[in-house]
Amino acid sequence: MDKQQEYVLRSVEERDIRFIRLWFTDVLGLLKSVAIAPAELENAFAEGIGFDGSSIEGLARVAESDMLARPDPSTFQVLPWRGDQRGTARMFCDILTPDGEPAAADPRNVLKRALNKAADAGFTFYTHPEIEFYLFHTPVSSGGPLIPVDEAGYFDHVARGTGHDFRRAAISLLESMGISVEFSHHEGGPGQNEIDLRYADALSTADNVMTFRTVVKEVALDQGIMASFMPKPLIQHPGSGMHTHFSLFEGDHNAFHDPAGQYELSDTARKFIAGLLYHSAEVTAVTNQFVNSYKRLWGGGEAPSYVCWGHNNRSALIRVPMYKPGKGQSARVEYRGIDAAANPYLTYSVMLAAGLKGIQEGYELPDEAEDNVWSLTDAERRAMGIAPLPNNLQDALDIMERSELVAETLGESVFAYFLRNKRQEWQEYRAQVTPYEVSKFLRAL
Ligand code: GLN
Ligand code: MG
Ligand code: MG
Ligand code: MG
Repeated sequence: MDKQQEYVLRSVEERDIRFIRLWFTDVLGLLKSVAIAPAELENAFAEGIGFDGSSIEGLARVAESDMLARPDPSTFQVLPWRGDQRGTARMFCDILTPDGEPAAADPRNVLKRALNKAADAGFTFYTHPEIEFYLFHTPVSSGGPLIPVDEAGYFDHVARGTGHDFRRAAISLLESMGISVEFSHHEGGPGQNEIDLRYADALSTADNVMTFRTVVKEVALDQGIMASFMPKPLIQHPGSGMHTHFSLFEGDHNAFHDPAGQYELSDTARKFIAGLLYHSAEVTAVTNQFVNSYKRLWGGGEAPSYVCWGHNNRSALIRVPMYKPGKGQSARVEYRGIDAAANPYLTYSVMLAAGLKGIQEGYELPDEAEDNVWSLTDAERRAMGIAPLPNNLQDALDIMERSELVAETLGESVFAYFLRNKRQEWQEYRAQVTPYEVSKFLRAL
């Protein structure tokens, strides 16, 4: 037993923890949880807890369904919403095959593999997500009208609004679980909020995004409302993105910073951006994984639709944030395509792989887009070499299916499972006759 494991056992004892929840995610990024008694902990650390992997989306084929969840002691946290007395704690798990090998289809393992590749090249990958979500009154019936909890807009101060108290409650819970929040505000849509997590290494941030979604849902339930990370719940209002800032460090040094470069960006950063741009269409099925994701990308509301980069250009897919003199360590690039419902593990994996490819192959960064790219005509964009992102899930899957980069990064089993699952979602969706069609065509035709 190592030191961290001993620390967990001691904390469980001292804090009188009654249940330990073992958390992991399926391939689509949905949280899974199994509770164990403290007496099982030692065995969980040593061998892992067995479960039937074939019942979890994408984790195993039926024929090889036995899987083990082994908790990562560095992720031990008490769940503050479960009360102080005889409480509940959680740890994220790595999924293992029965012979103790990391399971190829565990998203956390996919990210660890990608991070190891970066480490071989001398880099640590840091991420900083801006997470948007909507708050609705309950009951929300499927098909019924969605009623946001307020009518406020971007950066509005909501005096006694539900959203204001809501963010306070959510942020205190997050901070009590060791997740630092940098920034929070009302977003553009009614009932829409944004909370930005402080940057951290990508594995911690991916775990934090999973915790974040759970905390936000819990706080909403507690207040009798509902939180949703659906990418585009309301036709006439902005969707919910998860813009993410990326940087690579070499030891203590931010490898994206060069005081002599344009916007103080290093050559490494320029090539990383070039990699993200070049592979953006291939990875879109991962960063925007639901049919609804494309309603956000093509529904305006400041979501990016075209592949280009810019300095402080909010119509661009990649934005290089305003440079603050003397803050070289904070040099970073913001990828604005990712939506609030993405699987953070797989998303960070493909983003990192695309950026590293740019560095390793020495991709050339195209000129930045200085205009608002939405206001240009198709011909103007074509002349400038600015391509659209995929139009819908099917197009995104077609492009992904041909991508060596994505196949290699996700690994054979996740790649195949993902395509199969998403093709099925597209088939189901394509077969729908929507209220829109009925209202537009039933009487007119
Ligand atoms: N909601 C927008 C999106 O979906 C972003 C709005 C903003 O943060 N400026 O990307
Ligand atoms: Mg923001
Ligand atoms: Mg925002
Ligand atoms: Mg942003």
